[in-house]
Amino acid sequence: MSKKVLIVEDSISMLYFEDSEIKKEFDFETILARTKADAIKAMEKERDNIFVALLDLNLPDAMNGEIVDSVLEYNIPSIVFSAIFSDGLREKLINKGVVDYVLKGRQSNFDYVLKLINRIYNNRNIKALVVDDSKTQRVQIKHILKKYCFNVIEANDGLEAFKIFEKNLDIKLIITDHNMPNMTGIELVEKVRFNTPQNKLAIIAVSSNSNHILTVEFLKKGANDFLVKPFANEELICRVNQNMDMLEYIDIIKKSSITDFLTGLYNRKYFFENGEVLFNKLKSQNKDSAIAMIDIDFFKRVNDTYGHNIGDLTIKHISTVLKDNFRSSDVLARFGGEEFCVIVPNISEKNIYNFFDRIRDKIENSVVKTDSKDIKITVSIGVTSNLETNLEDSIKEADKRLYLAKQNGRNRVEI
Ligand code: GH3
Ligand code: MG
Ligand code: MG
Repeated sequence: MSKKVLIVEDSISMLYFEDSEIKKEFDFETILARTKADAIKAMEKERDNIFVALLDLNLPDAMNGEIVDSVLEYNIPSIVFSAIFSDGLREKLINKGVVDYVLKGRQSNFDYVLKLINRIYNNRNIKALVVDDSKTQRVQIKHILKKYCFNVIEANDGLEAFKIFEKNLDIKLIITDHNMPNMTGIELVEKVRFNTPQNKLAIIAVSSNSNHILTVEFLKKGANDFLVKPFANEELICRVNQNMDMLEYIDIIKKSSITDFLTGLYNRKYFFENGEVLFNKLKSQNKDSAIAMIDIDFFKRVNDTYGHNIGDLTIKHISTVLKDNFRSSDVLARFGGEEFCVIVPNISEKNIYNFFDRIRDKIENSVVKTDSKDIKITVSIGVTSNLETNLEDSIKEADKRLYLAKQNGRNRVEI
């Protein structure tokens, strides 16, 4: 998916400031243009790679904001970042279709731009469902959401919305009216919330009824937010953005709580929570599987000889080799310091040794690249193919084989 930001700005210092702030925050590439002509050249060449443009209004070859029309012609979502401010101009630009108009001058304003860029990037993967029996209202909301690059689906009433929802369980945002034929907004919220919590899907209720009881009812049934009609477009989008940010923050926190910081592999907590579920499934289905403990040989020496940083690099190197060699259906985790654990489902007993020995061999024949020299490293692997009564006991069995592998000379697999 396109990942480039087009920055059009004639002042060199401003251009570099914007460029470096964007690169500091994201791993997006940037395309820099100092004139309208340069911007057009870049868009001709890279249209499909650009997902957002950041525009200055005053350029040497386009003094009066003509750049905006040019970029919009290419259908690129545009944010105007300018030192000129008037309510009239702002309104004119927003009506033309720019996403937002942000005033230059303060760092906090650029933080707002960064947030916008991030939203536009992420929204392209977000399905939003707009539910209203009034077509005018639906179109108004859809128009705003589309400007912010959401994938918008429309429904005429609660019933139609629920049917769409059941077929699109990846919907992350529902904006719904209350008074509708067939099924009301509140009934829809109730049905959706039956097994989709607030941290997976945000619901924003909209109603012309400024009745407080209705608001409370919506919130109690599980709406995340509420808007009273008529509302300003910006009021809607601010709430939408906040709710989407919130879902993403929760995702980030959840991910970091199950991820090992150094290697990006799953951590022990995840391994036990999800491994246990997988383990019980495999056991009940009587499927051939393997559980292995993998431990770096003489790792202490690496730390002692080259220092802790190179030690960390070595752990990262091993985890990359492991990541590349296990399937996504395997549960692989960093268990402790230089120890990894993996559950490999559906592997026939006769293949187990070769499977793990190939991984051991790959590690033996790889090197950890450092600035001063390449370091060679080996691992020992203990495997059990008998699923014990529970995951913990199976790990103990694998651990015993690992101990044996160490005793028998290291750089080997014991089953
Ligand atoms: P063996 O072949 O018997 O496994 O010997 P070993 O030296 O690999 O094992 P030992 O358990 O004696 O030492 C492991 C070392 O790993 C000790 C600890 O300081 C180091 N270690 C644990 N976690 C980390 C880490 O995150 N980074 C680094 N650099 N070292 C770590
Ligand atoms: Mg070790
Ligand atoms: Mg150890």
